[in-house]
Amino acid sequence: MRLRSPGFSGPLGIATPFAQADPRQGRGMPMLTGSCLCGAVAYEVEAPPGPVIHCHCRTCRKAHGAAFSSVMPVPRDAFRWVRGAENLGEYESSPGKFRRFCRSCGSQVFAERVAKDQVLLRLGCLDTPVTERPVGHIWRSDAAPWYDPSDLLPEAPEGSFRPPVERS
Ligand SMILES: [Zn+2]
Repeated sequence: MRLRSPGFSGPLGIATPFAQADPRQGRGMPMLTGSCLCGAVAYEVEAPPGPVIHCHCRTCRKAHGAAFSSVMPVPRDAFRWVRGAENLGEYESSPGKFRRFCRSCGSQVFAERVAKDQVLLRLGCLDTPVTERPVGHIWRSDAAPWYDPSDLLPEAPEGSFRPPVERS
């Protein structure tokens, strides 16, 4: 006799794994998921990837401590926090624009203008391996002078690259 777990086979014998156990039943599966560095905060988005943009504005540079922030707008009504919403800090970097970050690890996860129907994912926290190519760089007028996107720099697969040190 074959053992079958309930919910693993549909009425026509077609395998429908987890159909009865999936708490998402009745909702679409998330197309994008993301989380902070420590994992306390996580989100999902039931929408396909939006355009990827690199933002070099001063506030993105400061907030992320980086040359630029890669962002992706997604529809607000497709976005939901999966866990850790109570662990989010917020910073209003310009009037009405809130940058939300994990209070435990500091990851910048999300930004929004409250009146807009889109929110901005901070793509370093995206866990879904999207392969869309970025569409471009914005706020180049604010950019860090030490980073030029047109520079072709040497690359290393891991953190072992040692640039030559100039000595005079
Ligand atoms: Zn965290």
